[in-house]
Amino acid sequence: MKLGLRKIMTGNPLLQAFRFPCGIELKNRLIMAPMTTCSGFYDGTVSNELVEYYRARAGSLGAIIVESCFIDNSGPAFPGAIGVDSDSKISGLARLAAAIKDKGSRAILQIYHGGRMVSPALIGGRSPVAPSAIAAPREGAPVPVALTEAQVEEMIAKFGDAVRRAVKAGFDGVELHGANTYLIQQFYSPNSNRRSDKWGGNREKRAAFPLAVLDIATEAAQSFADENFIIGYRFSPEEIEEPGIRFADSLYLLEEMAGHGLDYVHFSMGHILRPSLVDRQDKTPLIRKFIKERGAHLAKIPVIGVGGVVNRQDAEAALANGYDLVAVGKACIAYPDWADIISAQDLAGDKAAAETAPVSTPGKAGENRAATAVEAGGEAADLAGLLPAEPAALELYIDSTKREELLIPEPLWRFSLVEAMIRDMSVENAKFHAGTYQEDLSDDGLRIVMNVTLETDRIKDITLAAGTDIDEEFTACFNLVRGRILAANSPHIDAVAGATAQSEAVKQAVSKALMKSSREALSESGGEVVLQRYDVVIIGAGGAGLAAAIEAKDNGAKVLIVEKMPVVGGNTIKASAGMNAAETHFQKAKGIIDHKALFFQETMRGGHHKNNPSLLWYFVEHAPEAVAWLEKHGISLSDITTTGGMSVDRTHRPADRSAVGGYLISGLLKNVHQRHIDIMTNTAASEILRENGKVAGVRLRDSEGEEQIILTKGVIVATGGFSANSRMVEKYRPELKGFVTTNHAGATGDGIKLLERLGADVVDMKEIQIHPTVEQSSSYLISEAVRGGGAILVSQAGKRFVNEMETRDKVSGAIIDLPEHYAYIIFDEQIRRENKAVEQYIARNLVIEAAIIVDLAARLEMNADNLEKSLRNYNAAVAAGEDKEFGRITALRQPIDKAPFYAVRIAPGIHHTMGGVKIDPDSAVLDKEGDVIEGVWAAGEVAGGVHGGNRIGGNAVADIIIFGITAGRQAAAHKFKR
Ligand code: ADP
Repeated sequence: MKLGLRKIMTGNPLLQAFRFPCGIELKNRLIMAPMTTCSGFYDGTVSNELVEYYRARAGSLGAIIVESCFIDNSGPAFPGAIGVDSDSKISGLARLAAAIKDKGSRAILQIYHGGRMVSPALIGGRSPVAPSAIAAPREGAPVPVALTEAQVEEMIAKFGDAVRRAVKAGFDGVELHGANTYLIQQFYSPNSNRRSDKWGGNREKRAAFPLAVLDIATEAAQSFADENFIIGYRFSPEEIEEPGIRFADSLYLLEEMAGHGLDYVHFSMGHILRPSLVDRQDKTPLIRKFIKERGAHLAKIPVIGVGGVVNRQDAEAALANGYDLVAVGKACIAYPDWADIISAQDLAGDKAAAETAPVSTPGKAGENRAATAVEAGGEAADLAGLLPAEPAALELYIDSTKREELLIPEPLWRFSLVEAMIRDMSVENAKFHAGTYQEDLSDDGLRIVMNVTLETDRIKDITLAAGTDIDEEFTACFNLVRGRILAANSPHIDAVAGATAQSEAVKQAVSKALMKSSREALSESGGEVVLQRYDVVIIGAGGAGLAAAIEAKDNGAKVLIVEKMPVVGGNTIKASAGMNAAETHFQKAKGIIDHKALFFQETMRGGHHKNNPSLLWYFVEHAPEAVAWLEKHGISLSDITTTGGMSVDRTHRPADRSAVGGYLISGLLKNVHQRHIDIMTNTAASEILRENGKVAGVRLRDSEGEEQIILTKGVIVATGGFSANSRMVEKYRPELKGFVTTNHAGATGDGIKLLERLGADVVDMKEIQIHPTVEQSSSYLISEAVRGGGAILVSQAGKRFVNEMETRDKVSGAIIDLPEHYAYIIFDEQIRRENKAVEQYIARNLVIEAAIIVDLAARLEMNADNLEKSLRNYNAAVAAGEDKEFGRITALRQPIDKAPFYAVRIAPGIHHTMGGVKIDPDSAVLDKEGDVIEGVWAAGEVAGGVHGGNRIGGNAVADIIIFGITAGRQAAAHKFKR
């Protein structure tokens, strides 16, 4: 009876066939929305996992729009993005298209360029490109380089090439991605496009780029496709920034595009019925405004809606409100057979009617739906609400044990969109004490109180308590976060974009409630507190901690990592030069002859022979293995350079010559996630607990001051150094008072104190390294790889004053001895090109640039003759292979003569603390008698001895990986000891 009613009202439009203006027909109106999977290969080629993911979802859907594909290698906006930027990508894309089409769905490829939304880390450290040199309005966004007019034309041509490749790969169409603040939108937006040439200015001129892209796409389709080819356009209807795109602007652009010919327009919104984000008073869904206000051309173009469609009623509401086609996102990930489920929710009779229904004519469809709604006798948007609930409503969550079965690629599983849907189904016992917990997060005169209601195994509800000060913005964010937390059954969800602080407040309230309730549940179970137990607890999630975690897990241990900062990566993420190792297979492949003994000798010499020889020998001996270990874990350091104090190229770095830190941490983290290792961030270890002389657990304190105890027999301390603890630095080296530090805020020496309380001995505490080349206003380190790549240092007088490739202490000392106590690092275009890290310095405005030396000198207020002479002499030394003046023997790579020329003003900063707790080569911590303290290991900068009086560039990364692996292995083995 109910469904009969539905049939009369809607004629079951979802399952009707549909024809685009180009003539291509879809068997129904259900489309899988384009969604980032992050599952391509590193260079953007399609992986097998990805093919299988799409194959599993194709079949009953009318079409699949394959996730955004970058059209140029400067365009990927996220890791693991797939590309259509070269002909070599066609075969992989063809497999994807075939997998979808063979199952009976149409295949459309979304194409884009990320523009200023591209992170330099994804494009080898280069600066991203955009219409104008204005950074995106988000924290840490790089300043992009404005495209020249010629480059704009090239970019348009690349969109054309991408369409050609999509045709060749067998796709039925492309969707031009004009949304999500990517390049096409950036050209249309008055916020990001401040150009004064023909590509910018008033609205009409800003529309030129999207229209040119549409035209070239149409031309390419006409030239290369045998028959019809779909061309759609995705758009974000509004921007909230001032100035920014308003809804009327979007209508203007789409009307123009419709005039040029288009197969569909695709709203990009979080919810199909979302109202304006700008005009908050107006609650009318934008689609309704669109239908009402669109002009004659646009009324002929089909509209796709997306956002929040999970059940059939949602899809029906979309059509009822004016969309012609419905794109479905997360539900298609959670339910590969989503369209079948939706069809099965239907009556057999309904289905039969749908299959025999005539194909709707494009353009009329939207109007038809609106008319249907009126016939139903009410407001279209309320239609879904009027209908009785379907019996088998789908819930948007994914069973944590079903990844393989659902053919969800691993990177996508870890992607926030999916991660937020995963519900932990492996929980056997009740976790919580049922009840409602009130959490007060009031702050700065604002009263925020939340009620968190828990059942024994789930978070039932979160509400705002009476009396809470709420504004509209907070409520909107609260509702979103609430939904995510309930769906995930966990507070560990992604923050709402643009409302991080509010999101964190809600997450925190829930975490606190969970903690309280768990405690109650535990004490209820016989009054005895049952604490969590791990085989190994690792304190610190920098390079050493993450490497140790992976190795411990692979050696059979149950591992927990605790990190006091909100994010992982520690200081390691800032590492730039690379990882030193002698006799590696990478060196052999490049014909570099090196010897472990030489590496040992040079590190000893660099460390003023204060290094602990047995630790250093273990380090040198195991360095090549550590490089291979990384390689085995997908972290390839195949390019090789050198750093100060080394006579051979042995500093291993990523193939694209980018800074090592970010690459290393993201690779290690990927491995940690793949192994499902638990990580607690915002949680500091405050004490290592012992019972009868043996390690028994760790006391943790979260950022709220809440404490908990974790039971364990093995603790690895990987907390890094103490460069950011000025009191500690001054205690050991009073003369370093007031020096800036290159380190992150978490480098405060906690691990040393934790271990000293257990009786650990320390060594070399006075050995604190100052790095010679730190830009002082930002404390940003200018990597040694730049000097290693051929740069020189000059004083304010424009003269060289030191062998730049001396060890860090010597170069620092020489700078401090200059009357001005600072210097300039000078390099040219070739050095810039070969050292990707330079792009970061440029993006941060640390670099002074000039086309000729005289101008550079003028900008540095330096004597130009001196600077020119210094470069002439240096270039002559390069040609002769001998630097008589300063005795530089390494990195005399090429003359500095390729314009433009660059300079960064630098002075020393506190960089590394060589001292720390005493360990043996097994990473075991030693007491004052030299005996092993059972159950604790230390790895990385927290331990002293390897580097002696001065650390060589590239030896810290080697240190953390070598001793991280060792500590992980030893601690895991300890689990088997009684
Ligand atoms: P390494 O290079 O030796 O791995 P890093 O500085 O990269 O050192 O990483 C050390 C990590 O340890 C940092 O992320 C830091 O925030 C974290 N850390 C420091 N002290 C504590 C502590 N008491 N509890 C938890 N984490 C800590």
